[in-house]
Amino acid sequence: MSETTNAFSIAQAQFDNVAKQLHLDSDVAEQLRWPRREFKFQIPVRMDDGSQKVFFGYRVQHNDSRGPTKGGIRFHQSETMDTVRALAMWMTWKCAVADIPLGGAKGGVAVDSASLSLKEKEQLCRGWVGQIHHNLGPRVDVPAPDVGTTPQMMGWMMDEYSRLVGQYTPGVITGKPVGGGGSKGRKEATGYGVIYNVREAMKHLKMDPSKTSASIQGFGNVAQFAGLGFTQILGGKVLCVSYWDREEKASLSVSSKKGLDIAFLQNITDEYGSINKAKAQEAGYTISGGDDWISQDAEVLIPAALEGQINADSGKKISDTVKIVAEGANGPTTLEGDEELEKRNIFVIPDFLCNSGGVTVSYFEGVQNDMNYYWSQEEVIQRLDMKMTEAFGKVLKMSVGEKVKMRDAAYMVAIGSVVEAMQLRGWL
Ligand code: NAD
Repeated sequence: MSETTNAFSIAQAQFDNVAKQLHLDSDVAEQLRWPRREFKFQIPVRMDDGSQKVFFGYRVQHNDSRGPTKGGIRFHQSETMDTVRALAMWMTWKCAVADIPLGGAKGGVAVDSASLSLKEKEQLCRGWVGQIHHNLGPRVDVPAPDVGTTPQMMGWMMDEYSRLVGQYTPGVITGKPVGGGGSKGRKEATGYGVIYNVREAMKHLKMDPSKTSASIQGFGNVAQFAGLGFTQILGGKVLCVSYWDREEKASLSVSSKKGLDIAFLQNITDEYGSINKAKAQEAGYTISGGDDWISQDAEVLIPAALEGQINADSGKKISDTVKIVAEGANGPTTLEGDEELEKRNIFVIPDFLCNSGGVTVSYFEGVQNDMNYYWSQEEVIQRLDMKMTEAFGKVLKMSVGEKVKMRDAAYMVAIGSVVEAMQLRGWL
């Protein structure tokens, strides 16, 4: 039988599995396994060479029982409605597990951001908002950045929305630049959140973090700050990071048995997470194929790039040294990959718990926008740590109490909270 790689089929299968264990009413399950609203629209852009190009944009709002929907906008060439649906559904569970009063949504455009000039990118961002602004708003649906989108792009989108509704509305979008309505600590939030989860998992597994090493897939926003946190917060070593090399059009790994200097690597990485290979080689690091991150003799694997990266095939290459998989990316493990991890008795911190630091600080950003009062970096990071520690503790308690794996436990916590909100609102 061929492996399921469609992200939405995976998201539905994971949900169905837990809905069955929870004996969830079939009518309720049917509502939750589909998004409440979906939008697909054209965005024409006048290219620098004078031609007009039409891009396709998406927004999916999965469930808003717990509050306005929230979720990033991804600019990626292989974006499809199904990827967006899956990511929107995972956002619902993510906000619920992190216990922030928001629902789940996701958006995107099928485009390689790096292929556009600054002017074309700005038009695309403004065009995306233009097509969907009636269905956005601080109390309706609040987008944020994701793969291929940046704080500057969020700034343009916020400006376009404010222009269209005729009033400055910073709370319509999060992940804005600091000084332009953004929150301090947002850029570190997802990566550090991953690390707070890893720290709690290590406590549970009685591991000494300073004696551990990690291997990371990706070197974008999540991966960079997970790498920094792994070395600076936990005192461990990062042996390998992988990335998509835009010149070679292939994924590559950068590794060092002594450990990588993550701050140095950040300095030689472009805004799309592509590392300068020549400079990494000059620093004495080994460059090899992009798949090598998964077979490193590390204690922790952090997939922080795209979906479906730990699967039936790649799962077999995982070293016996690996004790923890911390899912920084959304949906990095296929159903078959999950079985392989279970067979190996690897402790999995599931994506929507592990990477919920980003949406948590996005929520803090909205709170600060509402108050028009901004917190210090220390205050944001401290509150983030508290939220992550609480969320991890709740899921671990469910996992131990119900004797289920962490992914199922996270679903149980999240589904329970969403169903309760639906009941309280009289939807069921
Ligand atoms: P990003 O665009 O900043 O970085 C993506 C990284 O992945 C880049 O380094 C790129 O080179 C690398 N990459 C792309 N294809 C690859 C491949 N085939 N092999 C190896 N590396 C590859 O994106 P990001 O914001 O860091 O997001 C990464 C993942 O985390 C995504 O799944 C995203 O949905 C998820 N996530 C992001 C946030 C956030 O706050 N940014 C929050 C929650 C979840």
